[in-house]
Amino acid sequence: MTFPLNADLHCHSTTSDGTLTPEQLAARAAANGVDLWALTDHDEVGGQQQALEAARAQGMKYLTGVEISVTFADVTVHIVGLGFDHTDPRMTEGLADTRDGRGPRARAMAEQLAQVGIHGAYEGALKYVGNPRLISRTHFARYIVEIGVCADPHDVFRRYLAEGKPGFVPHSWARLSDAVRWITGAGGVAVIAHPGRYDFTPNEEFALFSEFKAHGGRGVEVVTGSHTVAEYARYADMAIEFDLLASRGSDFHDPSESHTDLGALPDLPGKVTPVWAALQDRILRP
Ligand code: AMP
Ligand code: MN
Ligand code: MN
Ligand code: MN
Repeated sequence: MTFPLNADLHCHSTTSDGTLTPEQLAARAAANGVDLWALTDHDEVGGQQQALEAARAQGMKYLTGVEISVTFADVTVHIVGLGFDHTDPRMTEGLADTRDGRGPRARAMAEQLAQVGIHGAYEGALKYVGNPRLISRTHFARYIVEIGVCADPHDVFRRYLAEGKPGFVPHSWARLSDAVRWITGAGGVAVIAHPGRYDFTPNEEFALFSEFKAHGGRGVEVVTGSHTVAEYARYADMAIEFDLLASRGSDFHDPSESHTDLGALPDLPGKVTPVWAALQDRILRP
């Protein structure tokens, strides 16, 4: 396969907290020149069949994907899975358990928001939910923008939804070991998502990478929509230090909210090994 190729291995549809359907995303990715695509909805593989069929219809190569919410050292960490069997029962049951707490968490968030004067947030957020099995903070953010309390979702997170803010409800997600096992057990590769986004000390970050590898994790996102140019270099170095494959993905959610469009990313630094090099037999070809 030619390298570099335009791979976008991280984005979200209406099956989680994106605003485009898998078909709309596939069309947008193809129009933007994506050669290899993966839809990675949060804690949910319900969009995979649609996505792989839409990719085929657009003439794009496809890897199955997911982004699993994990609690590691009391911090929420995201683990992307690529190229797994999306019908694997241990994966689908594990994800169902991971999603389970989202409903009660959302009601608790709404109660806290009501105490600071934002009423009806649960019902308001529900209007933005595309999949009744998955209500996320992003849906709350869209509602709070709608009612004019904040200018954009980022402002909502900063003022209300981030840790320590009035609408934040602590939550226990999947264990790192479980998330990696579900992915590898279904034949896929586990990847640490956007490592630059976590507030870890260097020691904690070292622990995450070490434990992730020990559990069988094999990749790390190097070029993502939420990394700075300095972070591309830093995580390329980390990929080499930890002998991890490098991934690339926009983390696209919505045409107006997302800074980085599908496929609109710099190439991976030349010194890393792209994650798709290890997934050749898992790629679904049109
Ligand atoms: P949840 O899984 O319900 O905790 O929601 C997490 C999602 O919130 C992430 O996947 C992002 O889409 C979104 N998010 C987190 N932080 C921010 C932020 N600062 N600005 C905009 N969206 C954010
Ligand atoms: Mn999201
Ligand atoms: Mn994420
Ligand atoms: Mn994401």
